[in-house]
Order: sequence, then structure tokens, then C-alpha cells
Amino acid sequence: MRRIVPALLCLSLSLSACARTGTREPLRGSEYVLGTICTVSLQDGGSEAVLQAVFARLREIEARMSANREGTEIAAVNEAAGRSPVRVSPDTLFVVKKALEYARLSNGAFDPTIGPVVKLWNIGLDGQRVPSDREIREALPLVSWKSVVLDERASTVFLPRSGMRLDLGAIAKGYAADETARILGERRVRAAVVDLGGNVLVYGKKADGSLWRVGVQNPFNDRGSYLGIVSMGAGTVVTSGVYERFFEQDGKRYHHILDTRTGSPVESEIVSVTVIAPSSIDADGLSTTLFALGRERGLALVRTLPGVEAIYVDDQRRLYLSPGASKAFNLTDKTFTFAE
Ligand code: ADP
Ligand code: MG
Repeated sequence: MRRIVPALLCLSLSLSACARTGTREPLRGSEYVLGTICTVSLQDGGSEAVLQAVFARLREIEARMSANREGTEIAAVNEAAGRSPVRVSPDTLFVVKKALEYARLSNGAFDPTIGPVVKLWNIGLDGQRVPSDREIREALPLVSWKSVVLDERASTVFLPRSGMRLDLGAIAKGYAADETARILGERRVRAAVVDLGGNVLVYGKKADGSLWRVGVQNPFNDRGSYLGIVSMGAGTVVTSGVYERFFEQDGKRYHHILDTRTGSPVESEIVSVTVIAPSSIDADGLSTTLFALGRERGLALVRTLPGVEAIYVDDQRRLYLSPGASKAFNLTDKTFTFAE
């Protein structure tokens, strides 16, 4: 289910530069892009022009990588499936390559060729429905990350079977957040908060030298309600959960993270996974990967990844944290408990 606030749909680079003169108000921009509400808040340094540059870049990434829009590079790759390789920008090549890394790391639990199955369900979009077993049976063989052909020299992507479809929905926002951080660095912004639909990146150092405090989404409530706080230096916090996009039918909830073995939403006691990491593409790729892998395999994987921490929440409101997450995390909503 998409909770779109209509008032925010139109571009609002909300506070004008002059309104800030002499104040410490952050300069904020908010725009509906990448399928969600994206907000950039410049806390120290920067200008309206920096916000314009960031949002232009976010629109460019969407125009290249969206699987739901016509005319994007990913749409072109999907249309040419079974026929020919398609030349893509370095952006798209990089993100596809990263997505394939997570597919390898998770042995296919994360799979960017999940597109045909995503399309059957259409979760969060018009026409969402429970597909028939037959439709799922027909779509599943097309989900095969191992068969994607990347030619880095020619900068092409080839899907060898007709009907294959790439979907970068699980990772593109993370890349967009990292690109935002890169632009902020180029423009000498000293501190900023980037929130791409709940995919949060804190950039630089706060003027008073204190740590950033980032809320961890409460998966039982609407976006923007927190169960606790992560205190951290520059980095990113990304959550994947059943609350983000779903629909209900006959008393059953169908959410948007799909099991590549069954073609249906991942079934488990886990309702969300939050990942803390230095880079947002990694945090985004991993949040979906860890959700798909489940708690035990997921936390085992996290232990092998330096700088990466995770928080799992289950349907009994219990929290499972990696060791580093325990140190940085402060539970504020006492209706949740720590497991063990
Ligand atoms: P959000 O888009 O809410 O931030 P995620 O980052 O977890 O959430 O990405 C979920 C999206 O990833 C789905 O909407 C779909 O496009 C895609 N997806 C679903 N299941 C998988 C999967 N097993 N592997 C890779 N991508 C997936
Ligand atoms: Mg993700």
C-alpha cells in the first residue's frame, strides 16, 4: 500500500534561502521521485542550487533505472530480452553489477531478475492481485540471475530469455542516496540528512559534534514512526519490511519481498530488517537480502561483512541485533523487547 501524501507530490523546495538568513533552520527539499517521497535536509552548508542538483540527479537515476516506466534503460533491457544486449549508462551497469553481487552472496534469495514475478503481483501498484499457481509456475524459470550477461567493456546488459525482466527496486534507492552524498561532498556541504522514502543517509558531521540519531522504523505503524534510535557517525540506515508495500485479501497480507523459490511473498515470522552500513547501496541491497534469507542465515551473513550491522524485528515484537547494532541502538518503544 502506498501512503502518498498528495500535498507532497508537487515539488516543494520548501524553505527559501532568505527565510534562513540569520537562523540555523535546515534548508529542505522534498520531491516525489524514485516511487517515493525523497527529502534532503541541508544542516550545515549548501544552498538551493545544491538541492536542485540533487533532485535533478535523482530524476536522472529514476529515468534510467525504473522498471515501471517506459523509456528507461531497464525497460529497454527488458524489451530486448531474448534478442539482443542493450547499451546502458555506467550508473545502470554499476547497479546491475551490485545487484548480481547480492544475488551471489545470498545464493539467489536476492535476485534482480525477479521482475516477471513482481509484475504478476503488482504489489503497491494498480492491478495488484494474487496470481494463479500456473502464472507463478510459468514466471519462476525466468528468474535466473546467473544467466544475466554483463559486458563491462561494451557497457551492455543482456537477458538471454524472452520474458526475463530486471527489477532494481530493491537497490536503486540506495544507489541514489550514495549519489546524493557524492554531490553533497562535491558541493562542500558539511552536514545533511537524506531520506529517500525511509532509506536514510546521514552525511558529514553535525555542527555541535554530536552523533547523528536515526530512527528505526516501527514495522507495525506507518512510515515515520520509530521503535528506537541508532546513534552513529556518517552512514546509512535502511529498513525493508512487510509494512512498506502490501495488500490484503481474505484476511491474508501479501507484502512486496518475494521468495525466489515460491514466487510468493517471503513467509516468516520476520516483519522487518534494518541495516546500518557505510554505503546505502549496500544497506539497501542487504536489507532486502537479509529479509529474504531470514534471521539466522541473515545474521550469520552480517557477521562476515565488516561495518555492517542489522536489526531484525519479528511478529512478537522481539528484536534480534548483531553485536555492533546492540552498541549503537537505543530502544525507545517499550512495547518491543530484546530476544534472548
Ligand atoms: P522498498 O522498495 O520498500 O525500499 P526493498 O528495498 O526491500 O523495499 O525492495 C523491495 C522491492 O524489491 C520490491 O518492490 C521488488 O521490486 C523487489 N524485490 C522483491 N523481492 C525481491 C527479491 N527476492 N530479490 C530482489 N528484489 C526483490
Ligand atoms: Mg532494499
